[in-house]
Amino acid sequence: MFDNTMTAKQKMLHEMVVDFTENEVAPFDMEIDRKGDFTDGLFQKLIDTGFLALTLPKEYGGAEFDPIAVAQTINDLSYGNASVGVTLEGHYKSIDQLLLYGNQALLDEYLPTASQRIFAFSNTEPSGGSNPTGIRSTAVKEGDHWVLNGDKVMITNGGLAEVYTVLVKTGDNEFSCFVVDKDMPGFTFGKREDFIGLRGTPVGEIVMDNIVVPESHLLGKRGQGIEIADQAHDDARILMGAVLTGIMEHALKIATDYAKQRKALDTPLTELQVIQEKIANIAISKELTKLVYQQAAINKQNHLPYMEEAAMAKTFGSRSAVAAGDDALQVLAGYGYSREYPIEHLIRDARALEIAEGTVEKMRSAIAKAEFAK
Ligand SMILES: Cc1cc2nc3c(=O)[nH]c(=O)nc-3n(C[C@H](O)[C@H](O)[C@H](O)COP(=O)(O)OP(=O)(O)OC[C@H]3O[C@@H](n4cnc5c(N)ncnc54)[C@H](O)[C@@H]3O)c2cc1C
Repeated sequence: MFDNTMTAKQKMLHEMVVDFTENEVAPFDMEIDRKGDFTDGLFQKLIDTGFLALTLPKEYGGAEFDPIAVAQTINDLSYGNASVGVTLEGHYKSIDQLLLYGNQALLDEYLPTASQRIFAFSNTEPSGGSNPTGIRSTAVKEGDHWVLNGDKVMITNGGLAEVYTVLVKTGDNEFSCFVVDKDMPGFTFGKREDFIGLRGTPVGEIVMDNIVVPESHLLGKRGQGIEIADQAHDDARILMGAVLTGIMEHALKIATDYAKQRKALDTPLTELQVIQEKIANIAISKELTKLVYQQAAINKQNHLPYMEEAAMAKTFGSRSAVAAGDDALQVLAGYGYSREYPIEHLIRDARALEIAEGTVEKMRSAIAKAEFAK
């Protein structure tokens, strides 16, 4: 669908990414899951190929691709391995917020290196992620600088990323975002989560112990923290829809390839209506998720609201991708249940996205509130 309407620039990127995925990502899909990390050299190849610079403005050495092309890139990479898509999603949403809210000094300090270093965004604390006003991390103003203390957990790319936007309290009921980096005195990495899916993407903790930052490290205005965190979620959810579409494309390919060569006695699986129904359900879910995330990306490109579409892409896509994995598993039956095939890890990967970037329960609330407000 979208393939027919791509601009020449988008098409060139799409073809490059499909080729990269085929050669550098897909062959290592199972190994990434087993190893619980990217395979040796893959992260460097992502940097060398220019993936970290995809959304950066040209003045900072970037390729300045539009939101539609960026989402398609995440979709294409996630077809090979969802962790690769999620690692880049974490970086892109963080860069988006710097571009939207960063002052010139902050942009000049950090963006020239953003094509080589991963950036991350951190709201969640040990006390919970769904209700950000319950966080305990603080920033206190002392003279012309700020002093940050607190603990952020479950951060996508935590440990791998070098630059972190953190949501902290700057007053009784006041929340602000600051940018800190791993080389600052008082910054340490904590525990890496042992998650059941997306095992290539590190998700970990950072601890801030009296980190001193200048005023320029305040992202946006004082008190604008929740708005920035919400905006980061909206940007991330478009890309989560793209990750989930990639996972469903992968499940569909495995299930159709298998059904085409397997027989039930003399009847090809492709002729059994029960199998056709499962294949059709996966294809429908994949296409609907893709349409919604693309609509969100189109709205973003055109500076129109996209909160609802982005939340729908992730909410619908995550449950659909878990179900798609389950349907694909059933097409392969015994082999589907075996770790010889990647289907079981596709289900584990998809399941993470019912939680990350806001739980589906929270998103349904947000969608309903937006509908009531109409
Ligand atoms: C793979 C992965 C990557 C992640 N990456 C990041 C990251 O980069 N940065 C970051 O900050 N965090 C990240 N997280 C954390 C994630 O955002 C939180 O796990 C999520 O927001 C839920 O918070 P919680 O786990 O503390 O659950 P809780 O907030 O404790 O929620 C528990 C349950 O209660 C429900 N619930 C709670 N409050 C409400 C409410 N108000 N309305 C409706 N239901 C509610 C939830 O839906 C859930 O079912 C990541 C998590 C995962 C799994």
